[in-house]
Amino acid sequence: LNKKLGVCVCRHAARRERPVNYIERFPDGGLSLSCGELDHSMDEDADDYSWVHIGHLLDADDTLEIAATLEPGDAVERGAPGESWRRA
Ligand SMILES: [Zn+2]
Repeated sequence: LNKKLGVCVCRHAARRERPVNYIERFPDGGLSLSCGELDHSMDEDADDYSWVHIGHLLDADDTLEIAATLEPGDAVERGAPGESWRRA
């Protein structure tokens, strides 16, 4: 993965309040990474997602490289850091 790749990240993962436990590749090829909890809104006014370079997230957790293997429409999840990723 190119560390300069822009990805959509939930506010919890962006602020490192929670780990990334869910990764989704959108049909248009874009990547979304989130904590996997359900307390987000995709509403732009809610400001729950932001764009960051994936390199910032990879520095904290290199298992996020699995995102490179996702086809459009695919998603993977895990229960917690250290657990293996599985298809969602
Ligand atoms: Zn979150």
